[in-house]
Amino acid sequence: MKKFVLLESLVGLLLLAGNPAVAAEVHQHGLAEAAVVVEGQSLTVSFRAPLMDILGTEQPPVDAAARVRYEDRLKQVSEPQPSAQADCTLSHETRTGVAVLFPDSHQHDHDHEHHADVEAEWTFQCQSPDRLTDVTLPFLATFSGLTTEVILLLPAGQGALRLAPGDTRIPLE
Ligand SMILES: [Zn+2]
Repeated sequence: MKKFVLLESLVGLLLLAGNPAVAAEVHQHGLAEAAVVVEGQSLTVSFRAPLMDILGTEQPPVDAAARVRYEDRLKQVSEPQPSAQADCTLSHETRTGVAVLFPDSHQHDHDHEHHADVEAEWTFQCQSPDRLTDVTLPFLATFSGLTTEVILLLPAGQGALRLAPGDTRIPLE
């Protein structure tokens, strides 16, 4: 754990982010947040990034074709890869979709600044969680402009680290 800097205030911020009132706060383009939580055999990886950095825009899609393009782009926030020797299997996955980000225009008749976030969460069940040495987020190679602040809640303790742009690997030891 020597590389980790304890940043309990950051952990608090991230936990608060589940509160819609706080989530509405304007984000910083170029800055993403991730959390890796290991509890028993369960590994949960969550990720949140400004829509601007994933789609290159925060404007609603102009037509059906644009909606499809947006959805394809969001799907590129693909599942993380835990270190193979931990033998982890994905058991649950959620990701913000276009329908949530841009509800039907009939219900939203005014234009407004979006500043929305893309959020995703993956849960794995691991046969050997003690052999987890890292988790890779392959999509950070695609969205290579993002700096990602990572919170770690591990059996060995809490920590935080920062992934530089293009860096995909979160070390857990
Ligand atoms: Zn924004």
